[in-house]
Amino acid sequence: MSDYLIHGLSDKANVIGLACVTTDLVGRAAQLHGTSRTASAALGRALTGALLMAALMKRGQRVALKFEGNGPLQRVLVEADAGGTVRGYVGIPDADVPIKDGKLDVSGILGSDGYLTVIKDLGLKEPYKGIVGLHTGEIAEDIAYYFAESEQIPSAVGLGVFVEGDGEISAAGGFLIQALPSSEEGTVDQLIRNVQGIPFITQFLRDGKLPEDILARIFSGIPYHVLGKRDLLLQCSCSRGRVERALIALGSEELKRLIAEQDETDVTCEFCRTSYRFTRKELEELRREMTPAAASA
Ligand SMILES: [Zn+2]
Repeated sequence: MSDYLIHGLSDKANVIGLACVTTDLVGRAAQLHGTSRTASAALGRALTGALLMAALMKRGQRVALKFEGNGPLQRVLVEADAGGTVRGYVGIPDADVPIKDGKLDVSGILGSDGYLTVIKDLGLKEPYKGIVGLHTGEIAEDIAYYFAESEQIPSAVGLGVFVEGDGEISAAGGFLIQALPSSEEGTVDQLIRNVQGIPFITQFLRDGKLPEDILARIFSGIPYHVLGKRDLLLQCSCSRGRVERALIALGSEELKRLIAEQDETDVTCEFCRTSYRFTRKELEELRREMTPAAASA
């Protein structure tokens, strides 16, 4: 089954529900970065959470989430766009912590003391930026806490990644529900009961259920319709041109140092591990392309 997300709306247009399966892309990300079992769970939850948040945005808009904690993983960075693509990486991929209460301890590896920074590129001059303290370090609760604190939107978020003993990802997915201010108390009470009745997302998916079934569960007793379905992909937006611009942004002095020190400079994209090689001659050309004022600095 390929990864996808479905978007539902209550008939009264006061409740948004999203549900997705991300097993393939989380598996690919874990393989790409060589993450430990617990690091795979943390990265997978963050990738899934970012895709759910991006699905609330308009085409062309993007969201970046940076989780920074006091645990051995140090940080998780993910970026998703409204079209359904996502990329991400963690600070220390091979960091791990012992199992806690029979489960992978995501809060333990990230740490519950730290920050979640959300940057939304809405296509305006300046991106929107919100920062909240980590709520639990479990990722889903942190995203729900961000929505409540920073955007004043009550939300319920569920994220799950099932990592087998050999590190394989056998199920990953999530849901996001937002009750808009016009929702009556009865609807909200019903939603709370529905969410409490949802078993672990990974159990749901491992039982062969689909995002459509999760959505039906979320909206149980609340008339709704499906607005759309989109494919989800792990995809990086890096290119040689972007790396060149990043090198130029280092400044003339730094480029001069690289040219003097090495015959070849390798730049690796942290999101997808693609390596871009630049010869001394190519770096000299880049330095010449810089504005005369900057180049002579
Ligand atoms: Zn890349």
